[in-house]
Amino acid sequence: MAHGTASSMTRAERFTRSLVAMVTGEMPTFSFEFFPPKDDAAVEQLWEAIRRLEKVSPSFVSITYGAGGTTRDRTIRLTERVLQETSLTPMAHLTCVGHSVTELRRVVGNYAAAGVRNILALRGDPQGGLGQPWVAHPQGLDHADALVHLIKDLGDFTVGVAAFPDGHPESRSTLQDVEILIRKEQRGAEFAITQMVFDVDNYLRLRDELARRGSRLPVIPAIMPITNARQVIRMAELAGQPMPVAVTDRLARHGGDPEGVRQEGLAIATESARRLLDEGAPGIHFITMNRSSATLEVFGNL
Ligand code: FAD
Repeated sequence: MAHGTASSMTRAERFTRSLVAMVTGEMPTFSFEFFPPKDDAAVEQLWEAIRRLEKVSPSFVSITYGAGGTTRDRTIRLTERVLQETSLTPMAHLTCVGHSVTELRRVVGNYAAAGVRNILALRGDPQGGLGQPWVAHPQGLDHADALVHLIKDLGDFTVGVAAFPDGHPESRSTLQDVEILIRKEQRGAEFAITQMVFDVDNYLRLRDELARRGSRLPVIPAIMPITNARQVIRMAELAGQPMPVAVTDRLARHGGDPEGVRQEGLAIATESARRLLDEGAPGIHFITMNRSSATLEVFGNL
């Protein structure tokens, strides 16, 4: 663990520098999101992607937290492995779903022991899926702002949160989303990462409204380079975020031509990311789907 601690110091410093650069608008961050793989073949594919993406020295990589059971242990193990076997700075996602406060403390403690210092604090979706009422664990937490508070209270962690430029499906209005983000910032969140951005104007509206209310929270837009139209439309539906017609129309023009869809998807991601950076977004968070080629192509275009 001594080795892990020494290298995590350098990474912690690097991460802090990225944060400062983000806040001052000096330099955009580039980060990549992975999910814990389900089987050996998927593990191999993920590690191939990690090795290729490591070469472009991202500011950090993030690892999602599953809905329950063994996928959660995989998140913890993958985050630790990234820390031990690569030069990357990992950020672990953590949700309140199905956890008592005692369990949440234990997970955070395990991260701390492994040298993981960056956590994305989330509530998670209702266990029955979106559209079902949210029911917190009886000894758990109701919302992500409480998880931010808990993690900050447990030690020296850098904590990020989720942001919803198109509106969270349970929110009454986008103004509620702004108020919630400010509450998370007040409870110690240092930055936010958005849901997939397909409508740059919605991102700019959220960011500008936060600034108008005195918030200094950097909000990093997430971009997913589309390579498979059906997959991304399904993902957006599951997240309660219908894709804009402007995007689906562009993809539909290529009908059953997978290469045409891929090229259009990469063009959409490149255009959105360029505009976001030109408009002063603090960075771009790439949703990689555990693959590297599409992300590297868009990254190269920037
Ligand atoms: P909250 O901030 O708790 O918000 C949920 C709803 O409650 C919103 O409508 C909000 O307006 C409202 N609300 C918030 N706080 C309060 C309060 N104090 N009082 C009253 N109402 C309140 N899910 C996973 O399961 N695993 C992941 O790894 C994961 N990673 C994600 C990464 C990103 C970048 C994003 C954008 C989402 C991710 N999600 C993940 C999905 C996320 O968990 C869901 O979208 C979830 O429904 C909302 O999470 P939240 O942290 O925003 O919750």
